[in-house]
Amino acid sequence: MAEDKEPKLPSFFKMAATFTKELAAYAAKGAPNVSAESYIKRLDACNSCPFLIKDTMRCGKCGCLLEQKAKWRTSDCPATPSKWEPEMMMSDDEHKTKPNPEDGDKI
Ligand code: SF4
Repeated sequence: MAEDKEPKLPSFFKMAATFTKELAAYAAKGAPNVSAESYIKRLDACNSCPFLIKDTMRCGKCGCLLEQKAKWRTSDCPATPSKWEPEMMMSDDEHKTKPNPEDGDKI
């Protein structure tokens, strides 16, 4: 019988690259945050996601701290398809066709 396994964090270098890119995009747009309603919806999606590392509230796909990342309007869920609703700073097409590092896409 298969046991549920806790997802593992990506490598340090992948997490650093992802965080640097996310922070640069957030700063470049003037540090916009989502509404309180969107923030709660994002964290609800994470709480029911198999990639969530619950004890640290980190995403097992990108390694980001979700209580921080979910606030940033410029950030998106790294799952394909995204488990978060699109935000104003990201068009529906960008949301649906974003790069997927697991498919070899560069982030
Ligand atoms: S950001 Fe996306 S992939 Fe990561 S835990 Fe949340 S819902 Fe899951």
